Amino acid sequence: MKTKILLKEADMPTHWYNVMADMPNPPAPPLGPDGNPVTPDALGAIFPQALIEQEMSPERWIPIPEEVREVLRLWRPSPLYRARRLEQALGTPARIYYKNEAVSPAGSHKPNTAVAQAYYNKQAGIKRLTTETGAGQWGSSLALAGQLFGLEVEVYMVKVSYHQKPYRRSMMQTWGANVFASPSDRTNAGRSILEQHPDSEGSLGIAISEAVELAAQRDDTNYALGSVLNHVLLHQTVIGEEAKKQLEMVGDYPDMVFAPCGGGSNFGGIAFPFFADKAAGKEVQLVAVEPTSCPTLTKGVYAYDFGDAIGLTPLLKMYTLGHDFMPPGIHAGGLRYHGDSALVSQLHYEGLVDAVAVPQLETFEAGVLFARSEGIIPAPESTHAIAAVIREANRCTESGESRTLLFNLSGHGHFDMSAYDRYFAGELKNFDYPEEAIRESLAHLPKLKFDMES
Ligand SMILES: *Cc1c(COP(=O)(O)O)cnc(C)c1O
Repeated sequence: MKTKILLKEADMPTHWYNVMADMPNPPAPPLGPDGNPVTPDALGAIFPQALIEQEMSPERWIPIPEEVREVLRLWRPSPLYRARRLEQALGTPARIYYKNEAVSPAGSHKPNTAVAQAYYNKQAGIKRLTTETGAGQWGSSLALAGQLFGLEVEVYMVKVSYHQKPYRRSMMQTWGANVFASPSDRTNAGRSILEQHPDSEGSLGIAISEAVELAAQRDDTNYALGSVLNHVLLHQTVIGEEAKKQLEMVGDYPDMVFAPCGGGSNFGGIAFPFFADKAAGKEVQLVAVEPTSCPTLTKGVYAYDFGDAIGLTPLLKMYTLGHDFMPPGIHAGGLRYHGDSALVSQLHYEGLVDAVAVPQLETFEAGVLFARSEGIIPAPESTHAIAAVIREANRCTESGESRTLLFNLSGHGHFDMSAYDRYFAGELKNFDYPEEAIRESLAHLPKLKFDMES
């Protein structure tokens, strides 16, 4: 009876799986400010050609460069666990498996794409990458990847997190990145915010504006994004590819696959390789799990909207709560995005991907049960998937069915212990989605000629 199901280094995937090849309808293109599809040239100001091609490629399999695989081998293949102790704690007949992405140096799945993005930028002759980070998961992943490929990394970290999460900042600095509290005085965007609001605590939207402004200004500088875009989800598909092989080794196959869903990258990463089977007729249910306080897929609308708060990015067709929606300050910082991946959104719209929302207290309860049975302390984001799996396992207990449930443990919670402290102190609350706030921000969706005609 295996606990960890391990692949050899030589079994690490050689190709990324591109879900666009198996989608029943072509993905809706990103639109520029004029309402026309964005051209590759327009993206060339901030992204390297290879990533722009991946963003739009119809190829089912895209080779992973050997230099990228060499770095991924520092922690991949990641282990698949059979969660027997959690099954026992629940007394469920369900078989529960989880892929452990917490084993990366940064402690989450995010380095899977950071490494690929750093590689392609280096190949294109880029010297410096700029990015934003909220709680610091993405900034630390890009700092690591930049260091391994010899690129300078500048991280614009939302000011309130810069002061509240000093250890994520220390990690970035240890890996050689320059970290600035955003809004900063280094960009026009930052300076103009500081003029109007000298005490601004910052926001992801402002930090994105600063990072994009710098990347657009300099030929030797590009921008990197940690979720949402097609190429980011593509790079994460090593998770699901490995999981399929690992389940095959124990003769099992999931009835349901779960992952927490913020911008959709770790969900796409574990679920898309199973979607390939679903497209070929196999029965498997793919479930994205989000917080009730930021219920993009479960309560948002499917429409073109900006990717950032200010309206600088192209328009993406996605489930959105409105680009100026401000979710309540829950502790799963990585799940507080107003939109979602266009690929995940389209598949959800077409009924091929499911979504559930879980309230905050249930996620912490699940996280603590997981830590006390399996040992690993999960990131607050990951606890969302665990909570949804526990609901399903309890359903199996009632019905006596023995279903196979797989989830992605997207990261560990070692830098989120203050959130656990507050949970134990009884200070956390459930936030139901603020219906009023969503209605208000949905009133500000960009108006497209295109939408009004249809
Ligand atoms: C960033 C993050 C998420 C959410 O981002 P996705 O792009 O939806 O995967 C989930 N879990 C962890 C640990 C994260 O760092």
